[in-house]
Amino acid sequence: QMNQIGIIGLAVMGRSLALNMADHGYQVAGFNRSYEVTKQMIEASPHKNFHGYRTLQEMVSSLEKPRRIMMMIKAGKPVDSLIEQLLLLLDKGDIIMDGGNSFFEDTIRRESYLRSQGIHYFGVGVSGGEDGARFGPSMMPGGDPAAYFNIGPILETISAKADDGKPCCMYIGPNGAGHYVKMVHNGIEYADMQMIAEAYLLLKYVRHMNNQEMADVFDDWNQGTLNSFLIKITADILREHDDQSDNDLIDQIKDASQQKGTGRWTSIEALKQGVDVSMITASGNARVMSNNESRPSAAQYFHDAKADNLGSSISIEDIRSGLYAAKMIAYAQGFDLLKQASNAYHWDLKLGGIASIFRAGCIIQARFLNQITDAYERNQQLHHLLQDPFFAKQVKESLPALRKIVIQAIHAGIPVPSLSNAVSYLDMYAARHAGANLIQAQRDYFGAHTFERVDRAGSFHHEWRRSS
Ligand code: NDP
Repeated sequence: QMNQIGIIGLAVMGRSLALNMADHGYQVAGFNRSYEVTKQMIEASPHKNFHGYRTLQEMVSSLEKPRRIMMMIKAGKPVDSLIEQLLLLLDKGDIIMDGGNSFFEDTIRRESYLRSQGIHYFGVGVSGGEDGARFGPSMMPGGDPAAYFNIGPILETISAKADDGKPCCMYIGPNGAGHYVKMVHNGIEYADMQMIAEAYLLLKYVRHMNNQEMADVFDDWNQGTLNSFLIKITADILREHDDQSDNDLIDQIKDASQQKGTGRWTSIEALKQGVDVSMITASGNARVMSNNESRPSAAQYFHDAKADNLGSSISIEDIRSGLYAAKMIAYAQGFDLLKQASNAYHWDLKLGGIASIFRAGCIIQARFLNQITDAYERNQQLHHLLQDPFFAKQVKESLPALRKIVIQAIHAGIPVPSLSNAVSYLDMYAARHAGANLIQAQRDYFGAHTFERVDRAGSFHHEWRRSS
């Protein structure tokens, strides 16, 4: 019997996806550069539908045609070198998928190169970590729409299923579209995590709650509009005990966060596209600042200068409501970037569909994604998520709470870069007066860059009177 799909790279993600496919009845061929890894996998989790191979050639010749191969390896140069090795073994019409976290511009380049060689290439965003890959990830495949029928059924079958039973996988768009959407997903993930960390600081240092009490609060929030994977795991995390120190584990973890950089890509890309994703950028910066080597001494310098903690002037409900407002604003920023990218790269992204495949399997899965889908179904031309009637109303209602908790945090010297950027973004977006008239006047004054007028069409330069 021929194998239906081949997986290259049997580290955490590749092996989990392979077993997931095998569970669903597919005959899966596996290959890993170091055979030791393949051997370990077969010993640790043998599966009648999974077949490991010692060489790439053996694996490739075990596949039915057109061959379907998914690479689950380290992103970057390894992918290019593997593609070259595969090209020697594949025939026209075969399909290569890259399920790793590749940069979308690399995927665009590789897709075009492989198309010239007669090979279909798909960049597949995969979210959900090890558990997602093993039991149902959210998947974002991008590539030639005419070849999608060859891989779609397998990907949709192994993907997570939302509450309504729909697969959390759909064709995203041509070339780099799938990896792009995965990148923005990760950016939103950074913002979501940072906002929750800021809410945690407020509960802890303004409301003076202990870990157990905070865990109960997060559990409670998870029952309502904030229902999401990240809120749920936060409750679990706050309850975890550390046997080594006999303390809560959260208090034994060093206060410095790391990153692999996909969130940073979102910020760089947003700057290129001229889209404001300030909350995502603030969240990446927060990770960077948490590692700043001179942070401990800065605390000595400035700690005393901090203003008073206003005590219990904010309620738990204020924090919940403010977090909800900020969350809507963060997602609106991410989807604004997707909308711009869809135009710039001619991808015709289905934003409502994209929200719907985030509903299960991935890190940012959340109940309120249904509302984003609804918003884009109500109005396919929707310019900005915050102008959808539902979101406009919800943000307006929770905005006072967001302002209140940000003000409190600033008073108390508690860092809230993502929450405060949510307020700044909204105030700039909704500003009747943004101060940009003065910016244009300055540009015209020093550089004759001209300005538009409120009372006449056209662009104008003024001979400014210059004081000496
Ligand atoms: P790693 O990112 O740790 O990559 C290890 C795998 O890459 C091994 O199989 C390794 O083979 C292989 N590899 C490295 N260099 C080469 C090369 N030059 N040629 C062939 N194979 C090579 O594994 P993960 O399973 O964590 O992730 C796989 C991909 O999925 C990555 O792109 C990652 O960013 C992405 N991803 C990871 C998620 C996660 O939660 N971990 C979530 C979503 C996506 P060998 O054993 O021989 O060294």
